[in-house]
Amino acid sequence: MIAPCGTTQMIEVVSTIAGCRAEVRKTRSSGLTIGLVPTMGALHEGHLSLVRQSQADCDLTVVSIFVNPLQFGPKEDFTTYPRDLDADVRVLSSLERGPILVFAPSENEMYPSELLTFVGQTTLGDHLCGPFRPGHFRGVLTVVLKLFEIVQPDRAYFGKKDYQQWRVVGRMVADLNVPVDVIGMPTVREADGLAMSSRNRYLSPEERRKALCLYRALLAGRARIRDGEKKAGRIAEAMRQTVAEIEGVAVDYLSVVDPWSLQPVENVEGTVLLAGAVRVGRTRLIDNLEVGSQLGSEGASPCRRTSRA
Ligand code: AMP
Repeated sequence: MIAPCGTTQMIEVVSTIAGCRAEVRKTRSSGLTIGLVPTMGALHEGHLSLVRQSQADCDLTVVSIFVNPLQFGPKEDFTTYPRDLDADVRVLSSLERGPILVFAPSENEMYPSELLTFVGQTTLGDHLCGPFRPGHFRGVLTVVLKLFEIVQPDRAYFGKKDYQQWRVVGRMVADLNVPVDVIGMPTVREADGLAMSSRNRYLSPEERRKALCLYRALLAGRARIRDGEKKAGRIAEAMRQTVAEIEGVAVDYLSVVDPWSLQPVENVEGTVLLAGAVRVGRTRLIDNLEVGSQLGSEGASPCRRTSRA
């Protein structure tokens, strides 16, 4: 049973799928709604904005904390990724509204035997992070579908900081008729504009200063569009120049893409997504900005709506 913890918050931590299902079943059988916030932990304000939205919308919020090995490449930071469950639970306990169930399974709980079944997707992974992280979105979609099956949430909350992830998950639920509303939430930034990320804690003070060039590049791209530039090549070049001025920062991509198909555009018409990934020292950072008319608002946007009822 979810018990009070601290002064205002109700929180429980479960590590087994059976335990998670049992808690969720109690909520659902009372006719109450469930929100899911999938995370890899090392929680910061970006994650908490998703949790708060779920708490506002749903009766129970399930926060999953699982560093998913499937979505890391062999040379990526799976082993060094920050893990501190106690600290994460403390942060969640300080939130003031609505009960939270933390689902923090072990790797063995999620993948007890060799996985023979994966969720794959075609074109949405062709550009942006896809080519730089082979297998990443397959790993993301597979674990997210497993979480959806375990929790069976009414709504699931994803940050637009990981824009491509939000889109691939939204498309998966549409294509596979998964009855979950996928909600995209605005990117939460530090005061100077750097997108919050668990990986920011890898940065030395000097790297932290340099890391801001990614957001500045996106702003430079947006400024070109607002000045009337239509050619995506010129906009991308303005973004690249901003980063080129900073020593020790390598660009994976700085692209102008369609916000739905995530395919590169040649000319800006309506809304576009400016998206980038850079490596600052050994740390890979991503960020993006929606620029244009239809999608320009920074509000929550459901990718699609379905219902379990
Ligand atoms: P992660 O723990 O990095 O897998 O992120 C878990 C969820 O939090 C994902 O949906 C992310 O997009 C979201 N998230 C991470 N950073 C931010 C941020 N700065 N603003 C909004 N959402 C974020």
